[in-house]
Amino acid sequence: MNEQTIICGKCDSEIGSDSDYCPECGALFVNDVFCRRHKNDLASGVCVICGEPYCSGCLNSVNNIYLCHAHEEIEIFQGHAKIASGDNIYCRYLIGLLTENDFHPFLYNLMSSAHTPISLAGQSFNIFDVRGNNVNELKVMVPFDEFNEALKFLEELEESGEIDG
Ligand SMILES: [Zn+2]
Ligand SMILES: [Zn+2]
Ligand SMILES: [Zn+2]
Repeated sequence: MNEQTIICGKCDSEIGSDSDYCPECGALFVNDVFCRRHKNDLASGVCVICGEPYCSGCLNSVNNIYLCHAHEEIEIFQGHAKIASGDNIYCRYLIGLLTENDFHPFLYNLMSSAHTPISLAGQSFNIFDVRGNNVNELKVMVPFDEFNEALKFLEELEESGEIDG
């Protein structure tokens, strides 16, 4: 294994120098890779969730991070993707199960996240309140590269009735 690192020119993350793409933003460092869906089109990036290369037409850039159309709706935050949401008890239960099974989940709380209230007509509003989101909802996030496995794990738990879907 090559332990050397390089800095991604797109997102400034430090990544292994033997990577073909940046796992943080999906920037592609090799130019002879073709789109997974269009065999004749060169890939312009890699979806950070599935790790598959795609052409520009098959990719969406969300906060400067590449996602394929199958994964563009998934909420992402600092190298992590949302796998589930719910109340405190449910999320902590899931995190316990995921941790026991060698995943690295973390709990994302809108209340504790850094966001600035916006000002409308002289009054301050919390931006999440304005949009009508439930500020008490917690989110379970896992690293991008654990997303697919963690999703499969949760689906199996749902099928076995251990958690509610
Ligand atoms: Zn990057
Ligand atoms: Zn994808
Ligand atoms: Zn394509």
